[in-house]
Amino acid sequence: MLRRTLSRVLLERDPGAVLIADWTRRIGEGLLADSPHVREPNFTRIHTADLDRLFAAYDGRFLDGLCGRILGPDRLRFRLSRRMTRAGGKTTRIETPQGAPRFEIAVATTILFDGFGEDAREVTACGLPCANRLEALQRIFEHELVHLAEYLCWSESHCGRSRFQGIARRIFLHRAHTHQLITRPERAARGGIVVGSRVIFAFRGRPLTGRVNRITKRATVLVEDSRAPRWSDGRRYARYYVPLDQLRLVDPASARTPKKGRGKPEGRGKPEVRREHA
Ligand SMILES: [Zn+2]
Repeated sequence: MLRRTLSRVLLERDPGAVLIADWTRRIGEGLLADSPHVREPNFTRIHTADLDRLFAAYDGRFLDGLCGRILGPDRLRFRLSRRMTRAGGKTTRIETPQGAPRFEIAVATTILFDGFGEDAREVTACGLPCANRLEALQRIFEHELVHLAEYLCWSESHCGRSRFQGIARRIFLHRAHTHQLITRPERAARGGIVVGSRVIFAFRGRPLTGRVNRITKRATVLVEDSRAPRWSDGRRYARYYVPLDQLRLVDPASARTPKKGRGKPEGRGKPEVRREHA
């Protein structure tokens, strides 16, 4: 009965952006007010009891407390993991000989504490930009809560599938459905290079200096060039795609002051000068 009700909530509830923003903000503020550990948005300590608090708040506000009622007192436990370095969170279903499975939700503290450091770049979780650790923690927790709720209703849960993605999009406005957040290996590979860094690299044997405008697997570097199209800041830039390991910071201090990208080139379409540096 409760499972049926929960599955209906999961498949039909659609609070809309305004309510979702309001509820999640209140939950964040509630945690800051109640927790002896999480005292500021970029908290430096966290306890598993904080995950209990988040669970009660989210389940109560978004899912009518149904997960808690289905689970009863001791079928859900929380864990903080320092070992998890790629995923922000993990929900595990644990079979028991007595019948009803137990669940564990783990949250990766290393990733949380590595992100939003001095040289933080923009961190996104679930496809949403996070201004601080608390926001990242909430996005991670929301993703794991969808896993838990799916498990309770359908005994399986997959964030690669459309049912999960529909629930996460409707109830939490998530745009991406992965566990990825900023990770330590990724940061190390970047050598402190962030959007806005001034960098130097070699192109056809010639050193070029420019500014990083975007980072994916490679960096997009804008180099001033009078023959190139004009960008929205009024200057002309040629665009280079440079593997991260071929970039050096011009001034390592610039790693700590990430700046916004320079926007899009003016005019229609892409600028004509595009240089791929393999
Ligand atoms: Zn997932």
